[in-house]
Amino acid sequence: MHNTPMTMRSSPDENPSPQPTPLADALHRPMHDLRISLLDQCNFRCPYCMPEAEFHSEYEFLKRQQRLTYDEIVRVARAASRLGVSKIRLTGGEPLLDKNVCDLIERIAVLPGVEDLALTTNGALLAPIAEKLALAGLQRVTISLDSLDKEIFRIMSGGRGDLDAVLAGIKAADAAGLGPIKINVVVQKSVNDDGVLDLLEHFRGTGIIVRLIEFMDVGNRNGWRLNQVVPSRELLARIQKRWPMRAIGKNYPGEVARRYEYVDGAGEMGFISSVTAPFCGDCSRARLSADGKLYTCLFANQGTDLRESLRNGADDDELQQILTSIWLQRADRYSELRRPEIAEHHVLQKVEMYRIGG
Ligand code: SAM
Ligand code: SF4
Ligand code: SF4
Repeated sequence: MHNTPMTMRSSPDENPSPQPTPLADALHRPMHDLRISLLDQCNFRCPYCMPEAEFHSEYEFLKRQQRLTYDEIVRVARAASRLGVSKIRLTGGEPLLDKNVCDLIERIAVLPGVEDLALTTNGALLAPIAEKLALAGLQRVTISLDSLDKEIFRIMSGGRGDLDAVLAGIKAADAAGLGPIKINVVVQKSVNDDGVLDLLEHFRGTGIIVRLIEFMDVGNRNGWRLNQVVPSRELLARIQKRWPMRAIGKNYPGEVARRYEYVDGAGEMGFISSVTAPFCGDCSRARLSADGKLYTCLFANQGTDLRESLRNGADDDELQQILTSIWLQRADRYSELRRPEIAEHHVLQKVEMYRIGG
């Protein structure tokens, strides 16, 4: 069942330099991006992702032997790059809790076909390691920062975050050339939406790109309610009153953020509007959890266990065939089909965000 060919070659007579046929899923979407979650643990407890009440001191995270080794991660990354993945992002949990992450970056950065290697972090541990990350071959970082107000930031990190450390991390990443840096802001009504303009003001003109993300119904543990979502169009209207903006095009097909630039030349910002303006039609992302499950959607209820295949001796061709088979069957479009009244009841089994990293 895993032997569907991923490339089709014509005979030399027909075509002297055959091009591989790009792998496309059931909805004609290529596999361009791979997000790799290094571990499921985190030093924060953001209530929209890992609420403390659920992820308490007794919570059992993956044990070391349950997580993929670097050798296993590199094998999956290499197989994916052979199937057309050119963008790889390391994430978590909190990827910088992995003290050896630079060793892994060095190995992924040199894989043929990998053109873009990025990492998403909450920024708390970033400042001391930013330069080493860049030297290892990391190209860009995305840093999550929900508020510049110390108290709101503290609440949104589950009482664990230190705003100054995150700001120092952003500065160090900028100095290390890990840009263009993006700042992810999850916007929740009556929690941090009033601080959005302050965040934009802080980063305007710096080259750092703020992206305002609608609070999503990922997983089943964050108590998502539609009335906690601030639709991006509402935020845009508020922002436009302060700074005129104009829409700009995508950097590449499959980019999820809708980009805007300040008319006064102070740079760009963006919206990720999974709830009010889903973008499944372009979604080219595969996600690998720390225990080696491959998910084809952020809202998937199950993944395919690659760890078992890897540990049972699958060779590179077999691994490639497994990935091919998974992708060919992919028909996910959760956000386009979402019914908020059902999502609010959290009855559908969905993978948790901290396991696959957004
Ligand atoms: N710990 C790292 C961090 O926070 O940047 C990486 C993993 S985190 C799961 C990746 C991204 O997912 C973060 O930018 C976070 O804000 C976002 N995220 C988590 N839960 C979310 C939710 N319910 N809705 C929207 N974005 C969410
Ligand atoms: Fe941790 Fe990131 Fe989730 Fe916050 S969003 S709890 S920092 S994994
Ligand atoms: Fe992609 Fe699934 Fe999100 Fe749609 S809902 S954009 S398929 S991850």
